[in-house]
Amino acid sequence: MSEPETPAASTTAPAGSEVDSDQLLRQLVSFLEQEIDINGSLVPKPVVDTSRIAALIPEGNPLHGMKTLEEVAEYVAKTVLIPLDETRINPVFGVGNPNANLLVIGEAPGADEDKRGEPFVGRAGQLLDKILLAIQFKREDVYIANILKSRPPNNRDPTPEEVAAHLPILHKQITLIQPKLILCVGRTAGTSLLGVDSSLSALRGRFHDYHGLPVMVTYHPAALLRNPQWKHSTWQDVQALKARYDELMSSG
Ligand code: URA
Repeated sequence: MSEPETPAASTTAPAGSEVDSDQLLRQLVSFLEQEIDINGSLVPKPVVDTSRIAALIPEGNPLHGMKTLEEVAEYVAKTVLIPLDETRINPVFGVGNPNANLLVIGEAPGADEDKRGEPFVGRAGQLLDKILLAIQFKREDVYIANILKSRPPNNRDPTPEEVAAHLPILHKQITLIQPKLILCVGRTAGTSLLGVDSSLSALRGRFHDYHGLPVMVTYHPAALLRNPQWKHSTWQDVQALKARYDELMSSG
C-alpha cells in the first residue's frame, strides 16, 4: 500500500497558490537580508535591549540625539571633554563591525594607537588579535573600543574624572552596536565599565550582568606580554566567553 501524499510532497499547486508563494518568497528574502552581516555571511543578529545602558547617558547630553557611530565619532573628534582631548594626536574612537555581536573593551590608547587613531595596534594589539583568533573571531568580526578615547601621558591610569567624562561615549557605542556579549581586557576596563572597585583576579573567570548584557573580564594583553603565566587563565576566560557566545547565538 502506498503512503498517503503529504501537502509538502505534493507537486500540484492548488489554485491561488502563486500569490502565496510570491509573498512567501518576499518574506524569505527580507528575513535573509536581516540575517546577513557586513561580512556577507549568514549570521543571525538577535535583538538586544540596551535601553538601560542608554539611560546611563546623562540627560541633555548631545549623544542622545545621535543615530550612527560616524556621527558619534565626529562629535568625539571635535569636542574637548577633558584636557587629554587637547593633548592627543588623534582620538581613538573604535574599529570593527558596527553590527558586531562581541564588543571588546580596553583601557585607553597608547602611543601607537594615538599615532594611528585606532585601538590595539601595537604589540598588545597583535596579541589581542591572536586571542580572538583562538576563539574563531577575526578582528574585523568584532568591535574594539576603549574606556578612554584619548591617550593619557606616559600610559598612566585614567583618572576617575576622565573615565566619567568619556564613559557616556562608550554607552552610546553599546546602544548603537547592540553587542550580545562584552569582553573587557584589563582591570581598568572591567572596573570602569561595571562601576566596581575589585582586583582583576576577583573579576575574571565569571560573567557579570551589565544591564542585561553578559560581560567577561580577563587579563589585558599588555599584562600577558609581561606575565605569560597568566595566559592559561586568559584562555579559560575566553573559552567560557566563546561557549556563551555559541549558546546565545544558537538560542537567537
Ligand atoms: N591598550 C588599551 O587598553 N587599548 C588600546 O587601544 C591599546 C592598548
